[in-house]
Amino acid sequence: MKRVAIIGGGFSGLSAACYLAKEGYSVTLFEKNSTIGGRARFLKRDGFTFDTGPTFYWMPDIIEKFFNDFGKKASDYYELIRLDPGYEIYFGEKDSVKISSDIEKIFETFEEIESGSSKYLRKYLKQGEYNYRVAIDKVIEKPGKSPFELIMPETISRVSQFFTSISADVRANLKSEKLREILEFPVLFLGAKPSKTPLFYCFMNYADMILGTWHVKGGIYKLVEAMESVAKEYGVTIVANCHIDKIVTTNGKATSLKHTSQPGGVKSETETDFVISSADYHFSETLLEERERNYSQKYWQKKVFAPSALLYFVGFDKKLKNISHHTLFFDSSFKEHAETIYDTPRWPDKPLFYGSFPSINDSTLAPDGKECGVFLIPVATGIKDTPELRENYFLQIISRMEKLTGDSIFEHILFKESYSLNNFTQDFHAYKGNAYGLSNILTQTAFLKPKMENRHISNLIYAGQLTVPGPGVPPSIVSGKIASVLTHKKLKNG
Ligand SMILES: Cc1cc2nc3c(=O)[nH]c(=O)nc-3n(C[C@H](O)[C@H](O)[C@H](O)COP(=O)(O)OP(=O)(O)OC[C@H]3O[C@@H](n4cnc5c(N)ncnc54)[C@H](O)[C@@H]3O)c2cc1C
Repeated sequence: MKRVAIIGGGFSGLSAACYLAKEGYSVTLFEKNSTIGGRARFLKRDGFTFDTGPTFYWMPDIIEKFFNDFGKKASDYYELIRLDPGYEIYFGEKDSVKISSDIEKIFETFEEIESGSSKYLRKYLKQGEYNYRVAIDKVIEKPGKSPFELIMPETISRVSQFFTSISADVRANLKSEKLREILEFPVLFLGAKPSKTPLFYCFMNYADMILGTWHVKGGIYKLVEAMESVAKEYGVTIVANCHIDKIVTTNGKATSLKHTSQPGGVKSETETDFVISSADYHFSETLLEERERNYSQKYWQKKVFAPSALLYFVGFDKKLKNISHHTLFFDSSFKEHAETIYDTPRWPDKPLFYGSFPSINDSTLAPDGKECGVFLIPVATGIKDTPELRENYFLQIISRMEKLTGDSIFEHILFKESYSLNNFTQDFHAYKGNAYGLSNILTQTAFLKPKMENRHISNLIYAGQLTVPGPGVPPSIVSGKIASVLTHKKLKNG
C-alpha cells in the first residue's frame, strides 16, 4: 500500500487525508500543534468556549458535499442553526442595520434606507446566484494549472465582470453609503479591497443573503472533530505535537520527512511515497533546499496578502444588550482602514472591527447569564505587534462599542486574552503573520495563485488557503480534495 504523508492538520490537510484514505492509501497526517484544525482552534476558560479562528459558517452546501462524499451528512456530527439576523452592522450610535435570514425582509430593509434600491439588489443577487453556480459547479475544483480551465461559455459571457470591481458596480447603482458597505462587506472574506475585487465575486453576496449565515452548536471546532472522525474511520493516522523539520529528497523525489515530537523534542524520520504540505506555502518551501522551491523570496515579497488580525477573547459577567450573534462595527472609514492594510502597512487609527457573541444563540458556550465575545480587527501583515498596542486597541474598541450600543461593558469584563501577528507566526509559521493567506485580487486568482505541484519534486503537492481556490473554510476543504485528486493521479501513473 502506497504511503502518503500530509504536513498540517488544518481543513485542507484533513480533507486531503480523508479523500486519499478513501482511495486506499496509507495516510499519516503530521501536525505541529497539540490540536488539529489549524487556524480553527478553541479556547476554554472558566466555563466559556471561544472559537479562536473562523466564526462565520458560510456556504454550507460545500461543507455538506464533503460529508456526502463519504456517505455522511453534516447533521450526523453536529447541529446547524441558521442565524437570524445573519449579522448586524453598526454605522453610528444606536444606528444599526440587521441583515435578516429572510430575503424579503432584506429587500424591505433596503427600501427603507433607499427607495428603489431593492430592484438593484434583486438583479445583483440574480447575477450572484448565476456566478455562484458557475464558481461552485464548474470552477472551484479546478487545480489552477492553466487559464484554459476558466474558459467556458458561462465565463466568457461574463468576462466583463472580471474587469469591473464590486465597488464600481455597487457605487454606481446605490447612493446610500450604508447599503454600499453592506454589499461590500462579504468581500472582506476574500481578503481584498472591494475596489480590487472583480464583480464576478458578487456570488459572495448570494452566499451571504440567500444561503445564509449558520452557527455550529458547540462551536465551529465541531466541524474539525467531525472531519477527524471521518479521517479515523478511513484509517488515517493523526500525529499531533509533531513538527516537520525537513522534506528529504533524492533524485527529484521526496523520500521521507524528518520531524521533532513533543514533549521531549524527540527527533525521528518517516519514509513516504508522496508528500502533501498543507502548512503555509512559503513555510512549506523552507523545508526544501533552495533549488527545489517553486518560488523565491522576491516572489512572496511582491504578493498581496490578505490581512492579519488582532483578536480578543472576552468573558462577560452579563448578557450584553443591543448586539447580534455577529455584529460589525463600521462607524469609521473603511477606505482609510483598508489603506493601512493594503497600501501603506501600518496600525490603523480608528479601525473597523467585528464582534461575535455566539452565546446569544448557543447556551453551551458561556455560563448562565454570561456572554462570550470574540473581537477581531483586520490589520496589515508584517507590522510590529506589541502588548501595548493590543491593550490600546482593546480600550478603543470597547469604549466605542459602549457608545454605539448604549450598554455598559467595561465593568462587566471577567477576563480577556489577545492573539495577533506574533501568534500567527509562531503557531502556524504564517508568512508575515498572515491570518487568511493571499488576497483574491484578479492577478492572484485561479491559475495565477501559487501552483499546487512542485516543479522539481515530482511527488510533492501543496494544499491550503494559499493555493486554489483560496481562503476560507469551504475553499480550504476543497483545496484538500483537489490535492488528493492530483496525488491519486500521480501515484496511479507511477
Ligand atoms: C481569525 C480568523 C478568522 C477566520 N474567519 C473565517 C470565517 O469566519 N469563515 C471562514 O470560512 N473562514 C475564516 N477564516 C479562514 C479559515 O480559517 C482558513 O482559510 C482555513 O482554516 C485555512 O485552512 P488551511 O488548511 O489552509 O491552513 P491552516 O489552518 O493554517 O492549517 C495548516 C496547519 O499546518 C500546520 N503546520 C505548519 N507548519 C507545520 C510543520 N512544520 N509541521 C507540522 N504541521 C505544521 C499548522 O500548525 C496548521 O495546523 C478565518 C481565519 C482566521 C485566522
